[in-house]
Amino acid sequence: MLRLSEIKLPLDHPEHALRDAIIARLGVPAGDVQDFIVYKRSFDARRSVMALTYTVDITVTGEERLLKKFAKDTHVGMTPDMRYQFVGQAPEDLAERPVVVGFGPCGIFAALVLAQMGFKPVVLERGKKVRERTKDTWGLWRNNKLNPESNVQFGEGGAGTFSDGKLYSQIKDPRHLGRKVLEEFVRFGAPDEIIYVNRPHIGTFRLVSMVEKMRAEIERLGGEIRFQSKVSDLLLDEMADGNKQVRGLRLENGDEIASRHIVLALGHSARDTFEMLHERGVYLEQKPFAVGFRIEHPQKLIDEVRWGKYAGHEMLGAADYKLVHQASNGRAVYSFCMCPGGQVVAATSEPGRVVTNGMSQYSRAERNANAGLVVNIEPKDFPGTDPLAGMRLQRDLESRAYVLGGSNYNAPAQLVGDFIAGRASTALGSVTPSYQPGVTPTDLASALPGYAIEAMREAIPAFAKKIRGYDMNDAVLTGVETRTSSPLRIKRNEVLQSMNVKGLYPAGEGAGYAGGILSAGVDGIKVAEALAKDMLGLD
Ligand code: FAD
Repeated sequence: MLRLSEIKLPLDHPEHALRDAIIARLGVPAGDVQDFIVYKRSFDARRSVMALTYTVDITVTGEERLLKKFAKDTHVGMTPDMRYQFVGQAPEDLAERPVVVGFGPCGIFAALVLAQMGFKPVVLERGKKVRERTKDTWGLWRNNKLNPESNVQFGEGGAGTFSDGKLYSQIKDPRHLGRKVLEEFVRFGAPDEIIYVNRPHIGTFRLVSMVEKMRAEIERLGGEIRFQSKVSDLLLDEMADGNKQVRGLRLENGDEIASRHIVLALGHSARDTFEMLHERGVYLEQKPFAVGFRIEHPQKLIDEVRWGKYAGHEMLGAADYKLVHQASNGRAVYSFCMCPGGQVVAATSEPGRVVTNGMSQYSRAERNANAGLVVNIEPKDFPGTDPLAGMRLQRDLESRAYVLGGSNYNAPAQLVGDFIAGRASTALGSVTPSYQPGVTPTDLASALPGYAIEAMREAIPAFAKKIRGYDMNDAVLTGVETRTSSPLRIKRNEVLQSMNVKGLYPAGEGAGYAGGILSAGVDGIKVAEALAKDMLGLD
């Protein structure tokens, strides 16, 4: 197949226009174009006339002749082979089953690929099945009741289940593993378009049923998934070289499971498990992350600035944004996990703490746009030099937010106008905050370190130069956004095992090797491959 890129067409083009454009561009008779599929479709919003830009893969007569004809055209070439190849196949008489801890995107893909290779993995997930988990999560949102083992962070599907389901990432992906993730998602119920649109999303509703289908497939292939099975200890053997070899793990209920190949796909909120790993001497190190607030604006405001006269166009949907400001105190302030037409969610997993995040449905039809507005935090800012210091900082900020919000899981909130002016909010304005169970108007200045507040006060007016109205008085800040990524790294070596524990495969966001659903899924595939190679004795 030939790949042809940079085909630009107007937003409202008729269906046949793309085929016509391909024929014209290649200069071939219409009958020579046998078939084509869209590989990527993006918007070109920088022009006054909004354009769609396509990359297509074409089955065409005279492929070799065309390749010669367009040899100097960088927008015409061979379509690369993007099919996923398994690294091996488990023997029928496999003596040992690998274990995957955590059933978020990373654990799901590690388990799926292991199961597809015949390894029959055992998956251990501390939370509940996704439908039961949904009820517990709503318990916090509707009734101020937190279940520390079943919530936005813990349970089937992992942290991304109640999310916007954005499926893009900036990772380098020469082996097209991201495509494998997207294709599997489509197989289990995601809309086909996620394969080709530029910034795909699924929304929370579909994710729930997709996750259930993926679980069923892993089980069909011989895998076993145990819920409410929290791993509370590692069983380790000392090795002659001073390192350790994992030989199994212990669950909170006392059960022990033997395996010398264990994937740790814990997510960034498994703080008790991080503490256990530290006690057991697993090599951990500090890692930067970011803290801030969620900011809410009317979605209409964002649509009008981004899409101009095309705002509301069906093809464009609700507009997103991405903003970065380098503050004069040296801190980077940026938008994080922007959720168009969505809602701010209560995302704590620990009692007496408040954390924000964002989610939306596939339709992105809610009234407000929300995004994290966050500031980078470096290890030098942590209250200590040990690997758990960043986590302690997160806990401290989340506890402060709990108290500021009224000590009942309401979140502290402030109008943007008041925040910039440095006065407490006493009432809300025209933007109704979406955070459930509710917000308490207050002064957020004490919720974060001074340098973060200072940098944000500078960034909001700077962002308003890019998005007019971003600094509107009644936009709402809700705090605190602390779980932007893992506060530590469970460092691994070139064969993706822990630096000092053989057989342990730290993976995904919690280990510091992914940020987001897609990259966590990709990392899950990578560790599954590394683990399979080790079990099969391959290089
Ligand atoms: P997780 O998804 O966190 O999964 C880890 C799993 O391990 C959890 O299910 C947990 O219960 C389990 N676990 C932890 N400790 C143990 C233990 N001791 N024993 C057994 N099980 C354990 N990313 C995007 O790309 N797009 C988005 O739109 C998006 N929106 C988000 C919205 C919200 C509200 C949240 C919270 C996150 C969002 N993210 C989004 C981030 C994304 O969810 C994470 O990057 C991703 O889920 C990380 O995957 P993971 O598998 O590494 O970890």
